[in-house]
Amino acid sequence: MADFVDVATIEVESGKGGDGLVHFRRIKFVPRAGPGGGDGGKGGDVILRVDPHMRTLLDFKYKSSFRAEQGANGGSFGKTGGGGQDLIVRVPPGTVVFDEETGQQVADLVGPGYELIAARGGRGGRGNERFKTSTRQAPNFAEGGVPEQHFRLRLELKLLADVGIIGFPSVGKSTLISRISAAKPKIADYHFTTLTPNLGVVRLDENREFVVADMPGLIEGASEGIGLGHEFLRHVERTRVLIHLLDASGIEGRDPLQDFETINRELALYSDNLASLPQIVALNKVDLTEGREYAPLYRQELEQRGHRVLEISAATGEGLPALMQAVWDELEKAGGPAPMKLEEAEPVVLEMPAEEERELRVQKLGDGVFAVSGTDVEMMMARADLQHGEGIRRAQRALEKMGVILQLEELGAQLGDTVFIGETEMEYRPDYS
Ligand code: GDP
Ligand code: MG
Repeated sequence: MADFVDVATIEVESGKGGDGLVHFRRIKFVPRAGPGGGDGGKGGDVILRVDPHMRTLLDFKYKSSFRAEQGANGGSFGKTGGGGQDLIVRVPPGTVVFDEETGQQVADLVGPGYELIAARGGRGGRGNERFKTSTRQAPNFAEGGVPEQHFRLRLELKLLADVGIIGFPSVGKSTLISRISAAKPKIADYHFTTLTPNLGVVRLDENREFVVADMPGLIEGASEGIGLGHEFLRHVERTRVLIHLLDASGIEGRDPLQDFETINRELALYSDNLASLPQIVALNKVDLTEGREYAPLYRQELEQRGHRVLEISAATGEGLPALMQAVWDELEKAGGPAPMKLEEAEPVVLEMPAEEERELRVQKLGDGVFAVSGTDVEMMMARADLQHGEGIRRAQRALEKMGVILQLEELGAQLGDTVFIGETEMEYRPDYS
């Protein structure tokens, strides 16, 4: 399918969970009067949320990296660390999200109410207070917080023109678009033969942006029987305003008033819909002597016929702010730029698909060197408290339960050998206690 797409790549990173704390309450004359280390707080999520006022992905040109807050570490006297704040990233309706690494589509954020938890904040680790049991009165270990998630995401948005620019060849359509647009979207797989429209994103301020497209070859194409076809009609389906560009200098040897009529006649033949749209007439090239001289005459004539007319120079930029304001006013009269995709949506919360579970794998890398990998075992080790004897014993028991010790034994591991578990390097001590 041929479409104009706006594309952006962003990085999202959630907050790590806060670490649990090892702490003991102090009571006079009572050493270690009881564990009092609090839990770490949850890290913040990064959430992509549809904002119906956004129209394009332009924002992500300026900021493309989003990181939520970490959870705070646990405090003394059982105090839980504060949760890290979620980070909300606004996206326009119709944003399709892909995981850059896998290429997989993870969400189609079609309309208001849709959001994607793009990176989930880590859970906080448990403080030592939580490890107290009748037999373990003074646990001197705590859990680390769960690590953050990190993803590279590709965002894609189909663009539809809000504003069309019509006019004979060489009146300055391309020049105008390049002058007023803040971004030039890519054209993906377009099949308008030689009649490729130009597209630009116009931004007046943060809340006012729209998409303009010229309609090249409306005349050339029609006269040669090429036409722009259904795809183009679909593309301009949401177009609400036309800028009718005329060359006021007449240096191409044509009569702008006659051109105006011709274009409108062709337009009516081509599409009733387009022909019925409000037009703003822009008399271009007033930077040229001839343009400056003739523009007021054409203007008077066209205004008498009830048209709204502005004088501009696409080359120097003269009159363009007034033109853009006029375009915006017309768009608003028509109910504002149409959302990309209007789907009535119950709020939908989507999540990144869970990372593929990796199975437990124990390998002999070389003499006296082993590697253990797998989602569960690595996760367990990342969270283990290996600074304290009790934490090491707990990890040891977990390794036994997962069958890691048995497999190491089968592969011939000896006391003192090196074992890598994920990123942790350990000494093999099957008898640790
Ligand atoms: P299009 O065929 O309608 O897209 O027209 P272009 O934007 O390609 O412009 C045709 C020619 O007119 C180019 O040589 C431009 O540099 C020139 N042109 C466009 N706008 C202006 C203007 O405001 N002033 C002057 N002096 N030349 C212009
Ligand atoms: Mg052009």
